[in-house]
Amino acid sequence: MNLTQFPRRNYVQSATPIEALPAFSKALGGKVNIFIKRDDLLPGCAGGNKTRKLDYCIADALENGADTIITCGAVQSNHCRLTLSWAVKEGMDCHLVLEERVAGSYKKDGSGNNFLFQLMGVKSTTVVPGGSDMLGEMQKLAEQLKKNGKKPYIIPGGASNTIGATGYVACAQEIQQQLFESNLTIDHMVVPSGSAGTHAGIVVGMYGTNAGIPVSGVNVSRKKDVQEELVHKLAVETAERLGMRESLPADQITCFDNYVGEGYSIPTDGMTEAVKLLARTESILLDPVYSGKSMAGLIDLVRNDHFAPGSNVLFLHTGGSPALYAYLDTF
Ligand SMILES: *Cc1c(COP(=O)(O)O)cnc(C)c1O
Repeated sequence: MNLTQFPRRNYVQSATPIEALPAFSKALGGKVNIFIKRDDLLPGCAGGNKTRKLDYCIADALENGADTIITCGAVQSNHCRLTLSWAVKEGMDCHLVLEERVAGSYKKDGSGNNFLFQLMGVKSTTVVPGGSDMLGEMQKLAEQLKKNGKKPYIIPGGASNTIGATGYVACAQEIQQQLFESNLTIDHMVVPSGSAGTHAGIVVGMYGTNAGIPVSGVNVSRKKDVQEELVHKLAVETAERLGMRESLPADQITCFDNYVGEGYSIPTDGMTEAVKLLARTESILLDPVYSGKSMAGLIDLVRNDHFAPGSNVLFLHTGGSPALYAYLDTF
């Protein structure tokens, strides 16, 4: 797969580390060896997975002559924080449409990512109720901005279209190069599965290069069948855009939905255990909404002997720790 055919901004200057987690693995009984891919250390304000996707999406915006970015997310969205961060670096305006998925959860002076929206000088935030037509809201805003002479470009939630997912195809290639250089074999990979671009991109990148590394997604909001269909659709479209000859088989997509709890962004006991355990064994910060719940899934799978004894399991750390500061009461 030739990824150089698509414009990008080169936000990912060097490979993020793959680290062993010996103390964390031992705390889980030493049955498997857990490794972590540190995408929480990607560039962009406070790091995280959206940087890989925005590398391609913002390049596309600039190719299209945009001077303004509009995107959307939840009230503590890491995607909104990173989109704003890269817009600032590019000298573009950035407007955010925030979905209040949990009623009453938006606080104008809230901490975490919300604080960073203000600190980085967001042009506007529009808060809409949960279940709103987010694309429709962004299009309305785009029409207004056009009337004022601006050239807006809409990036969908999570930058999870085929352009953004290409960033995670690149990540799968990066991982394989690192494994080759360090002579490390990975038997299984676990990734968070939200707006689906990360999961879809990793699967396309692994399958398309015949890596032989099975990938499991841990859901943060949807039911298993709905999420698997969403990831598969995006993976198929992304693979087509990259010119992959065969269609991506549906059985390459596996999701676990038993770690969501009551719903998106609502804390679970498994999440708090995972965040505390990784902090106290390896001093690595997860987040309450995505990586914490995904790691809760990995912990449970290890305890239930899902992986063969002695396996090497790679967890993709997608970032998000600024949101911890909006959840002080939970911890
Ligand atoms: C967006 C996000 C995810 C999920 O990635 P998707 O591509 O939306 O599935 C995981 N972790 C963090 C920290 C995120 O911000």
